[in-house]
Amino acid sequence: MHSTVIVGAGPAGMAAAVVLARAGEHPIIVDEAEQPGGQVWRKPAAPLQPALARILGRAAAAEHEQAHAEFASIAASVDHRPRHLAWNLQGGELFVIEHRRIRPLRYGALLLATGATDRLLPVPGWTLPGVFSLGGAQTLLKDQGALIGRRVVFAGASPLLYLAALQYKAMGATVVAVLDTTALPEKLRATPALAAAAPRVLARGLSYMARLRAGGVAIFHGVTALGIEGQDYAERVRFRCSRGAEHDLAVDAVALGFGLRAETQLLDLAGVPLAFDVDFRQWLPIVDGDGRAAPGLYAAGDGCTIGGAAAAAISGRLAAYAILADRGVAVPATEVAMLRARLARLRAFQRALSRAFAWPAHWLADARDDTVLCRCENVTVGVVRAAVAAPLGPREVNRAKALTRCGMGRCQARFCGLATAELMAHALAAPVATMGRHRSQAPVKPIPLDATLVDEDTP
Ligand SMILES: Cc1cc2nc3c(=O)[nH]c(=O)nc-3n(C[C@H](O)[C@H](O)[C@H](O)COP(=O)(O)OP(=O)(O)OC[C@H]3O[C@@H](n4cnc5c(N)ncnc54)[C@H](O)[C@@H]3O)c2cc1C
Repeated sequence: MHSTVIVGAGPAGMAAAVVLARAGEHPIIVDEAEQPGGQVWRKPAAPLQPALARILGRAAAAEHEQAHAEFASIAASVDHRPRHLAWNLQGGELFVIEHRRIRPLRYGALLLATGATDRLLPVPGWTLPGVFSLGGAQTLLKDQGALIGRRVVFAGASPLLYLAALQYKAMGATVVAVLDTTALPEKLRATPALAAAAPRVLARGLSYMARLRAGGVAIFHGVTALGIEGQDYAERVRFRCSRGAEHDLAVDAVALGFGLRAETQLLDLAGVPLAFDVDFRQWLPIVDGDGRAAPGLYAAGDGCTIGGAAAAAISGRLAAYAILADRGVAVPATEVAMLRARLARLRAFQRALSRAFAWPAHWLADARDDTVLCRCENVTVGVVRAAVAAPLGPREVNRAKALTRCGMGRCQARFCGLATAELMAHALAAPVATMGRHRSQAPVKPIPLDATLVDEDTP
């Protein structure tokens, strides 16, 4: 049995590993990615590393390097297993797969630091080639130095729109516009709460907007009626701006981002209860302030509560201290208290951000019937609406999945689940929380059918 297994080598998992290693532990950290770093501290391919500061900006590149240096400093005390996907959690064992070999891992403590993925909102044309999720667009750039196109529009409701647009501009793309679906007054209303919680982070965010404007990038707030058109790939973006005027922009790629959604599947498989969070409009696990989810089970980072990279790293440290404390190891009380206070501020900041960049879920009330809702199974908005309207039609998302296949594909409702619940809630005039959430099933991500189970200790 291993004392601690961590899933996820992003900011949360890396920070937890550092605390545990410095306390004399030898944790295992598995991650399906090739390199540690998670989403925000993703290590670029070797030829791209000298360009890191150009892509990320100097301050972010320095944070990136510091996190990797700290993780490298404990390499001898940590069993880091890249390319290992954790796909099931059952009977006190975590099942991981590398290549075609499935290995069960027994653990004394398990920390799930699985991060988040993009939240998407279906708009006409969003499945056209050339349309990427915002995170996907960033991943291509940070990982491979590749751009999704030469004339790119960034659209949605997220502060990351501005950051990604700047990064694309720095790497030579023409950023045609940033189309922000949230209205300026909503952002102004949230500003006092943002300034109180984390003034430096707010200043950094505002500087992104200012630099884009100074660089000649058009920024539209309060965008509605967004649609993407093109014969075989994205060629035009149409939308209405807050003054009601209609616009039509020529593009060759679009990055769409409507915030993040927590990756909670493994916690769900472990039986940890989830509750609907009205600010983030998604289901999040119920854990205590230090990440305790159940005896021997801990959660940290964006997979637990959307909080951003700094909050993820702090929550990882706190979860590691919780693991140590639960084993009776003395932990530094002053540092823990300081970390809790900082985490509370950063999470308050993120909550205010979720109001400033609210997901325009109300768009689903008027979504066109022919808009694709579930892209894995090619199920349209109209199909789900018709099912809901039928006699004895579904009243929650799992029943809708059984009847329409919406959410049944390989992404397991990661990209359509939240939108499906909102669509059904509008159709039934019911609160979205009563639509439920898609139940997680193993494997949480696809694995090969011919995989073989090997003993934990088989090399
Ligand atoms: C695509 C994307 C891009 C982002 N870019 C930025 C940015 O540029 N700047 C910014 O401030 N914030 C960014 N964010 C938000 C930021 O990622 C987070 O706040 C921060 O990285 C969260 O850290 P974390 O450790 O909780 O999770 P992550 O950084 O997401 O790390 C989670 C890790 O867990 C691994 N993992 C997940 N599930 C499994 C599994 N089942 N088995 C094995 N491994 C698994 C993943 O491969 C990943 O490495 C981005 C988010 C996304 C989704």
